[in-house]
Amino acid sequence: MQSAAQVTSFLAAGRTLFLLIHLLGVTCFSYIVARRLVPLIRGERDFRFDRPWLRIKRVFKFWLGQWKQPRYRAAGTMHIFIFAGFLILAIRAFSVLIVGVSQNFVMPGLSGRAGDVYGIITDYAATVVFLCMVIAMVRRLVFKPARYAVPARYGKSHMADAIFLLSLIALLMLADSLFAAAKAAAEAPQGYPVEALAALSLPWMLRNALVSAPLHTLGSLYFSAYLVHELTFYLLLCYRPFGIQFHVETSLFNIYFAKLDREILKPVRWGVSDENLDQVKSFGVKTFEDFTWKHMLDFYSCADCGRCSDNCPANAVGRPLSPRFITIKARDYSFQHYPVFGRVNKGTPLLGSVYSQDEIWSCTTCGACEEECPLLVEYIDKIVDLRRGMVDEGNVPQSLQKPLKALESRGNPYGKMEKKKADWTSAKEFQQICRVRTLDHRNGAQTLYFVDSITSYDDRMQSIGRATAKILNHVGEEFGILGAAERDSGHEVRRFGEETLFIALRDHNTEAIKASGVQRIVTADPHAFNALKHDYKDVPPVEHISQVIAREVAAGKIKFNPVENKNDVYTYHDPCYLGRHNQIYDEPRDVLDAIPGLKRVEMSRARDRSFCCGGGGLMLFYEPKEDQRMGAMRVRMAAEAGANVIVTACPFCMVNIEDAIKVAGMEGKMTAIDLAELVDRQIAREHPDAIEEQVSEIKECVTASSNSLK
Ligand code: SF4
Ligand code: SF4
Repeated sequence: MQSAAQVTSFLAAGRTLFLLIHLLGVTCFSYIVARRLVPLIRGERDFRFDRPWLRIKRVFKFWLGQWKQPRYRAAGTMHIFIFAGFLILAIRAFSVLIVGVSQNFVMPGLSGRAGDVYGIITDYAATVVFLCMVIAMVRRLVFKPARYAVPARYGKSHMADAIFLLSLIALLMLADSLFAAAKAAAEAPQGYPVEALAALSLPWMLRNALVSAPLHTLGSLYFSAYLVHELTFYLLLCYRPFGIQFHVETSLFNIYFAKLDREILKPVRWGVSDENLDQVKSFGVKTFEDFTWKHMLDFYSCADCGRCSDNCPANAVGRPLSPRFITIKARDYSFQHYPVFGRVNKGTPLLGSVYSQDEIWSCTTCGACEEECPLLVEYIDKIVDLRRGMVDEGNVPQSLQKPLKALESRGNPYGKMEKKKADWTSAKEFQQICRVRTLDHRNGAQTLYFVDSITSYDDRMQSIGRATAKILNHVGEEFGILGAAERDSGHEVRRFGEETLFIALRDHNTEAIKASGVQRIVTADPHAFNALKHDYKDVPPVEHISQVIAREVAAGKIKFNPVENKNDVYTYHDPCYLGRHNQIYDEPRDVLDAIPGLKRVEMSRARDRSFCCGGGGLMLFYEPKEDQRMGAMRVRMAAEAGANVIVTACPFCMVNIEDAIKVAGMEGKMTAIDLAELVDRQIAREHPDAIEEQVSEIKECVTASSNSLK
């Protein structure tokens, strides 16, 4: 005769064994975690303790809500199921652990009906997690998604580790279900209060299979399942800090402490003001210990999902950079040099042993990796810090030395004379229709048009400057430029790692802006926009020209003529520093959609998944090792979307895309135009007489402006 009490008494026999397993498991886990914390304690400072409510909200969104997971629909949905399953099973796992040493333990609040309901939910949760593990293993072994692959230069495949971990979790679910099923099978025919098992769940199926098994078999199964569950649980717990599964423990903290203002670059040293930078002995990251504790936590928290590298344009074009391995290599370094057993071995230079120079210079700071990462791992700050370290040691690529010197001496990377900065305004036809004043303390205006180097000096990009000025003029904006007083915004210089030079450029521009007395700033260059908005302090509010245009279109101040060629198909390329870094996605599209007859299509990678053209971070002057140009890939994406006109809103994008059209042999089939140029071309202007009046007004102004330049 079967007795559930007899079956459950099997557990009691092993109480001492289970107690020992618990003690050993908890001690091992605590020791391993304590050792893993050692490098974090030795890492650089990082201020991540502000705005706790906002941080908690983000934990709800990105950790509990798994916000970014559905960006990869199949894998993301599966992860959500696994995560939810783990959360649900956490309480059950805890009560099961205690049952081994205190047999009648019931989690407070989970007796009676509530316990039955929770039991049903956990049966399904265990089943779902088990199935997800099987599916994940099949995906990895049979379908082998490319983003999990490990290129030879980054070491050996992570497949065995992943399969081992997935198998352990599957085994944990199976053992848990078998434990419940054996008990339920013993209870079933005896009139004992049968623990309800969820229909069609794993425990339910196992119970049905065992219902006629003899008592001693059920007892052995019950005991063995429990033992396997305990051992697997602690094996998993203690094995996780040795690999990718450590994110299970660290992800909540990583998300809580994640950067709140992603667009603001990390200072050289937290707690050291710009004025005191000369007291900093060593800039940037040179050894592992130069990373901040939060950046080290990032290394532990990476789930090796490969989404960052899957979206990284540098990786896509075959540059020697894959953000996933920036993290994995640092984590491997940390595990080797801060071992769980043995002596710490710190201070080895990272460059040459972990990272290569080309790898670190290959990044365009586009932000695609950070946008994609479900665990909010940061990359740009780390890469910029590694660059700061290289610059500090004089490791600057040959091709970048000249523009840097020119920036130092002339305030622009081309080495052109300051007095030529406003030459773009002197084109004869332009002067006939647009007034551009040069501002100083005597000759002020409401608005400053901050032009920046590329638009001021590059012959092709000057057209964007003129278009921008004409648009501002059209909407009646009282504006001017700084002319010779304007220096490069320093945006690229800073991302390149030359902080001191950036500070000099920023301070110079800040003074010139303040002296001009303007109330607001407009720019057509997203890099200048980002610098003025986030890297500068104490300057008036700044807008990108696309925001101004969108507002004036909505207010009816800008009206458009229909496009001439109705067969043209337009697509908008989101510049990284307008889109991803500043979330300006809609305004340029709204403007395009307001032009009558303009047909617009979206590329497969658009908005926050836009694909960098390759121009960020002084890349215009750097020749990286790559299989193909980023711009060329982007142009092909536009063609695949069915477009023959690429509209962008950034002079850097324009250089790269126009160049790529030539490289790809698509001249005549594809063209590129800046949003400001397109708007200027399509604006429905007033009657010619009115323009005549404007012209004479402008002539006066140009004379005034050239006088002030003298
Ligand atoms: S910022 Fe862009 S280029 Fe740099 S690692 Fe991330 S995705 Fe790659
Ligand atoms: S950094 Fe983020 S996106 Fe990249 S592999 Fe790790 S978890 Fe995935």
